[in-house]
Amino acid sequence: MIVVMRANTEQEKQDRLVDWLKSMGLGIHVSKGEFQTVLGLIGDTSKVDMDLLESLDIVESVKRVSETFKCVNRKFHPEDTVVEVGGVKVGGGHFCMIAGPCSVETEEQIVAVARAVKDAGADMLRGGAFKPRTSPYDFQGLKGEGLELLKLARAETGLPIVTEIMSAADLPLFEDVDVLQVGARNMQNFDLLKELGRTGKPVLLKRGLANTLKELLMSAEYIMASGNEQVILCERGIRTYSDYLRNTLDLAAVPMLHELSHLPVIVDPSHATGIARMVPPMAMAAAAAGADGLMIEVHNDPLHALCDGAQSLRPEEYAALAKRVRALREALA
Ligand code: PEP
Ligand code: MN
Repeated sequence: MIVVMRANTEQEKQDRLVDWLKSMGLGIHVSKGEFQTVLGLIGDTSKVDMDLLESLDIVESVKRVSETFKCVNRKFHPEDTVVEVGGVKVGGGHFCMIAGPCSVETEEQIVAVARAVKDAGADMLRGGAFKPRTSPYDFQGLKGEGLELLKLARAETGLPIVTEIMSAADLPLFEDVDVLQVGARNMQNFDLLKELGRTGKPVLLKRGLANTLKELLMSAEYIMASGNEQVILCERGIRTYSDYLRNTLDLAAVPMLHELSHLPVIVDPSHATGIARMVPPMAMAAAAAGADGLMIEVHNDPLHALCDGAQSLRPEEYAALAKRVRALREALA
């Protein structure tokens, strides 16, 4: 249920209403917008008397929210959420380019790629240290050492770092990481989501390989319900009938998620297609569809990459694409 407050309601009166609602065992999510404050009621609202609430002089309207996701719901929070990462903003008109290799491999590699994408205007550096590989015999990532190399690349370039966490047990290692990525394979690892909710750190939540938008939003709800509002959603392609492509990029997810939720939505055209030459057209399409950013794999030597070389752009290809994305966004503005 949401309660839309009248403009200019005295804070004290609003606080009294919030206390009263809390005394009924409800959680209250207060969204203070530029023009309106909206109270989102979480919990069993069946006993709340809507007519009584609506009759209060400080209340403009009361509506039931039928969706099971509440905190992530745009009805609870009409304005776009802007996630802030060390001076970089994502959402609400702030477009963010995240680029870097699939995996951190060596100091030379991550620093070279970080410098190149920084020069091309990237806002954040990505790179996996803990890799969720389909085969246990494939490169599993440099783990703690990889995180240290990412920090080094951050120190060299000033770019905030985004990297995947697979287990809550590893959280102490991630203390100095800027954005915690939850990969597609862990989208419904609810214990992990709850723990990340408690950290208060920005979380990049990728859509699962075969998950619906509602399931993605429910996973974001886990993070938000645990107290963390800093969530970025990521569409990275889903399993359908693709034969020549790694996945199917569901671009309509972008406007639909924007309609349903206030959270920023970015697109990863690298994992969505699996083919480097497919990345630029789909990145452009994602920007045109209103995405709040892009996450793109870039490698200085794709032929010898330990992971996902086939879908990785070379630094000069990334730079050319970034320029075109900027021009497209300007043309669309
Ligand atoms: C990644 O971004 O490194 C990754 C493994 O992607 P996904 O979880 O989307 O497969
Ligand atoms: Mn990858």
